[in-house]
Amino acid sequence: MMKQPTVLIVEDEPAIAELMAVNLRHNGFHPFWAVDSASAQREIDAALPDLILLDWMLPGESGLTLAKRWRSHPRTKLVPIIMLTARSDEADRVAGLDAGADDYMAKPFSTKEMLARVRAVLRRRAPEQAEGGFAIGGLALDVGTHRVSFNEQPLKLGPTEFKLLQYLMSHAERVHSRGQLLDKVWGDHVFIEERTVDVHIKRLREALGAGGVLVETVRGAGYRVTAHPAP
Ligand code: CA
Repeated sequence: MMKQPTVLIVEDEPAIAELMAVNLRHNGFHPFWAVDSASAQREIDAALPDLILLDWMLPGESGLTLAKRWRSHPRTKLVPIIMLTARSDEADRVAGLDAGADDYMAKPFSTKEMLARVRAVLRRRAPEQAEGGFAIGGLALDVGTHRVSFNEQPLKLGPTEFKLLQYLMSHAERVHSRGQLLDKVWGDHVFIEERTVDVHIKRLREALGAGGVLVETVRGAGYRVTAHPAP
């Protein structure tokens, strides 16, 4: 099942925020709302949303200042931002995009336009995220965040097990000999014995728990990750 994308709405006007939230909720998103920059920052610190709808004119710090700060921070720099503003002239649009916003919407906007822009920005971002990860038979690995999960349950892997799994998942279904794995995962393996691979495969399976069955031994040939393990 696809997770509902979370959308942080940063907007000080309750009527507008409520309208956006209702429409997002009815269209498969999970919206939450912050009324000013301080509460927006608290939300971001608590959990990263999949997308931010950010009003320009806020009490306290402006949306533009927030966008610049989030863009310059490693934790938040990849979260897509759509700026909202009552002002629609070219100079503002450029300033918004310069601050790192992915898109820009002038008020008043229709629900249809908002949903179209939200979906377009999430689609544009999706390939970057997909590049950094693999998903096979309930097992998911994200290269950027170093996270591994099985059936959406997070798992803890050692660095070698992570590299080993990353290599096997990037060449799923193919069988790799111990020598090939030493080459690809350990690199310079002159002083490493082939049974080292067996030790790390064993640890990898243990760390994967129920997902360990996806790491298959192919007798006389080596190992593979497969979406269809032999019963
Ligand atoms: Ca406002």
